[in-house]
Amino acid sequence: MATALRPPRLPVPEQASSLHRLPKHRVAVTGRRSFAARAGSYPGNVGVPKQWYNLIADLPVKPPPMLHPGTHQPLNPSDLAPLFPDELIRQELTEERFIDIPDEVRDVYELWRPTPLIRAKRLEKLLGTPAKIYYKYEGTSPAGSHKGNTAVPQAWYNAAAGVKNVVTETGAGQWGSALSFASTLFGLNCEVWQVRASYDQKPYRRLMMETWGAKVHPSPSDVTEAGRRLLAADPSSPGSLGMAISEAVEVAATNADTKYCLGSVLNHVLLHQTVIGEECLEQLAAIGDTPDVVIGCTGGGSNFGGLAFPFMREKLAGRMNPQFKAVEPAACPTLTKGVYAYDYGDTAGLTPLMKMHTLGHDFVPDPIHAGGLRYHGMAPLISHVYELGFMEAMSIQQTECFEAALQFARTEGIIPAPEPTHAIAAAIREALECKRTGEEKVILIAMCGHGHFDLAAYDRYLRGDMIDLSHSAEKLKESLGAIPKV
Ligand SMILES: *Cc1c(COP(=O)(O)O)cnc(C)c1O
Repeated sequence: MATALRPPRLPVPEQASSLHRLPKHRVAVTGRRSFAARAGSYPGNVGVPKQWYNLIADLPVKPPPMLHPGTHQPLNPSDLAPLFPDELIRQELTEERFIDIPDEVRDVYELWRPTPLIRAKRLEKLLGTPAKIYYKYEGTSPAGSHKGNTAVPQAWYNAAAGVKNVVTETGAGQWGSALSFASTLFGLNCEVWQVRASYDQKPYRRLMMETWGAKVHPSPSDVTEAGRRLLAADPSSPGSLGMAISEAVEVAATNADTKYCLGSVLNHVLLHQTVIGEECLEQLAAIGDTPDVVIGCTGGGSNFGGLAFPFMREKLAGRMNPQFKAVEPAACPTLTKGVYAYDYGDTAGLTPLMKMHTLGHDFVPDPIHAGGLRYHGMAPLISHVYELGFMEAMSIQQTECFEAALQFARTEGIIPAPEPTHAIAAAIREALECKRTGEEKVILIAMCGHGHFDLAAYDRYLRGDMIDLSHSAEKLKESLGAIPKV
């Protein structure tokens, strides 16, 4: 009798065998062709999307244009030519609905895509909630976050245009490492300005970038005009994303063979990140669920937009009706406490003016652990969608986020990066509200990266040394006063 109960042995490849034992509702998918080809019957087993989705095509009101920083007139595509290759400029400005993903890019995506969509049933059980919680996990990319989704196409379009060097900034180090990885695949030299505080606190992120062949400078640095000016004003400056952007943009603008890459904020970055949402739509459809709430953290808005925009398209078409919730840190509350105005993307005022929610381009947030959320502005497209009333925003203090992170790590196993702990904390609030009301909502979390290089932050929290930091009203008033009058 006992042998009759044994399940039949399936002829499966080694790497797939453990996945076969997963309970049905736990959706595990893999981008490896050898497995995907044989596992077609598994729910949620989707391929890598063939196109990115541009939400602008479906918006009833189009977002306002970028302005030239000198003339305050709408930007010409040619104004961006010193910084970006033509195809990325086209993608930045287009209203086309779908953009084909080049084969070379999909081929690299397949190293880690499709990423898993996982039901957090152990977290649900811990919370005792009737809600279903899913998370779309982007931490399986080589650099450990969603940033690779745009680093790869940005490196590819630059290499295809004959560019030799790319330069960029990095805050927490995730973007710099993703671009370093992508650059080495396409034979580009990569130089990164890493925010000083992060350069000092996160040597392993720097070493990761160097391992992939990049050159890393602490920012402010003495190798650029903007950096030297900042150092003269404050030799011990901890740096900020806005400062590091000024340095990288200056180098790109003054060297013909060098272009600039940005890891968030711009339309083409959010566009590339929609692979997350497109995959997730298919994965949820295969399970037969639709989300009631989509939650993501917002620094510049790219992981949130990347997951949310394809679902927003479905909502605009009347096919589903989820709420969208962006979560930001209380120390850098761009959407909830900023103003909607034209402002620079960097500290020195070298970038085009973008209409966005901003705390002022010289706002320097307190050094919270979620370095990727310490940006003074917000993607113009997210800001516009927020103004249209298509999404909500909230801010959460970091100790609540780390409490949520421990609950997540101790049930789901994955140690989240400090940034998505904001989304997890908000999802836990939502799930506990469902427990109170008895609602069986489907909650979808953008789990955009792992925290393996952020364990110092966990150390702080576990020792009880982490404190909550709110923005100072005085500092905010000052930086809001410095927003250009347009
Ligand atoms: C960069 C980063 C962020 C913040 O950027 P968004 O553009 O808002 O996504 C959040 N989480 C992780 C893991 C990051 O690497």
